[in-house]
Parts: sequence; C-alpha cells; structure tokens
Amino acid sequence: MMENGTGLQGKVALVTGASRGIGLAIAKRLGSAGARIVVMDMAFREGPEAVIEALKGVGAEATTHEANVTDGEQVEALFKSVEEEWGGVDILVNNAGITRDGFLMRMTDEQWDAVLNVNLKGAFLCSRAAIRGMMRKRWGRIVSLSSVVALGGNPGQVNYAASKAGLIGMTRTLSKEVASRNITVNAVAPGFIGTDMVDTLSDEMKAKVMERIPMGRFGTAEDVAGVVAFLSSEEARYVTGQVVGIDGGLSL
Ligand code: NDP
Repeated sequence: MMENGTGLQGKVALVTGASRGIGLAIAKRLGSAGARIVVMDMAFREGPEAVIEALKGVGAEATTHEANVTDGEQVEALFKSVEEEWGGVDILVNNAGITRDGFLMRMTDEQWDAVLNVNLKGAFLCSRAAIRGMMRKRWGRIVSLSSVVALGGNPGQVNYAASKAGLIGMTRTLSKEVASRNITVNAVAPGFIGTDMVDTLSDEMKAKVMERIPMGRFGTAEDVAGVVAFLSSEEARYVTGQVVGIDGGLSL
C-alpha cells in the first residue's frame, strides 16, 4: 500500500482550485506520498505562503500559481511554466468547481455558463494542456472531481449536475483515447463533504441529507483525498475510465 512519504517520488502533481477545501486536502495527501505539488487557484485568500507552509508541514515541496481554469491562455502559460521548472505534470487533479444554484425555470444564462465553464470547460482545458507531456512520458494520471448529483440529480442544480455528468463522459472518452500510453483517467463522485461548499446549505437541508447517508455523517476532505491519491498511484495502473463514489453509501 502507498504510505506517507512513499509511492509518488519523482512525480509532479497539479491540483486546480487547491488553496482550500478538498483541493488543499488532495494536495497535502499527494505531497505526503512524495509528489511535488503545483497548487493552482484563482485566488489565495490567506496568501500563497500559508499554502506553501501547509504543504511543508507534510514534508512536500510545493509551488503556487494564480490562474483561472476557464482562461485557455492562462492554463497554457501555467503548464509551460511547470514544464520549464519541474519537467511537466504527471498527475492532474481537476478539482476547481463552483455552484450557482437555482431552479431551471429561473436559472439565468450567466448561472448556466459560469458553472459549465469552470467545472467542465476548465477540466477540458487543463486536461488538454496536460496530456501532451503525459503522452511523451508514457505515464500519466488524470482524476476529476465529479459528484454524486451527476448520476442522481439534485433539484436546483441542473447546471452543476450537467457539468459533473459531462465530466464523466469526458473521463470515459479520454480514458479510451490515451489508455495505450499508460495514462489513466478517472473520476471520483463525492457525496456531501464538509467544506465551505456544503456549509452554505440550510440546517434543514443538511438534516434532510444526513437522513439519507447510511454511514450517518458527512464526508471529510481527507476521505476524498485518500481515494484520489490511490487513483494517482502506480498501484491503480489498471484502473481507468472509472467513477468512484465517495459518499458513505448515499448513492446506494
Ligand atoms: P470549495 O468551494 O471549497 O473550493 C473550490 C476551489 O476552486 C476554490 O479555491 C475556488 O477558488 C477554486 N476555483 C473556483 N473557480 C475557479 C477557477 N475559475 N479557476 C481556478 N480555481 C477556481 O469547493 P470544495 O473543496 O467543496 O469542492 C472541490 C471540488 O469537489 C469541486 O469540483 C466540487 O464541485 C467537488 N465536490 C464537492 C462536494 C462537497 O460536498 N463539497 C461534493 C461533490 C463534489 P476561490 O477560493 O477563489 O473561490
């Protein structure tokens, strides 16, 4: 089994939207397994130093980059700089994501476009930028953050569910395109994870959701990070095109 300090030495992992929440937990987990980490986010609310320190705390070498996943030029520039600095990205985690909830009847074009752009187009732009180097190296891992709502739906989230279901289609298709090059492409589908995104739900909504989780608790960012680390590892080399649920049984 992959343990802290082992397994991912010599690999470079880029995690999008990783200054906080699930992304930061993933960055720390991959870093503790020996990968060098590129923490990419649109903004660093506590400053980039705080993130670098957090990663140092788990023994990881890290660098930070401010970029917007929806901006193709910024994404290209980011991957170019990682190529120059560290020889390219071996592991890409498409984690950046947003919600702009509302019932379809009242959903604006802006709400739809914003969510599809960040959650789906952002993952496309980053995957395209990452894949060339992975093809050359004949090794690569792409893991995208989908969601339990991609498969089950959730009222008020047509845009979000569509973007997360789109990620599954993209994952399955890309996995077939690059499988022969020893590159795996997978998605994880977390249920309700206790982060800022879930904290915005009303107490009533939280209680309702909790009733439906067989394990009787929300997940933690670390619950997600462990699975992403496994899918990023050499041990998961024969796992591709899969969607792994991390939801305490919610989707059963
Ligand atoms: P958070 O909102 O806590 O963090 C998301 C991060 O993405 C933030 O740092 C945010 O930056 C960043 N981000 C947003 N837009 C962009 C952009 N255009 N370019 C670069 N970075 C951006 O979310 P979570 O940690 O809760 O979620 C992480 C992922 O997991 C998301 O894809 C989410 O959809 C998915 N997920 C989460 C679940 C949950 O229960 N929390 C359940 C299922 C899936 P900023 O700080 O500037 O806003």
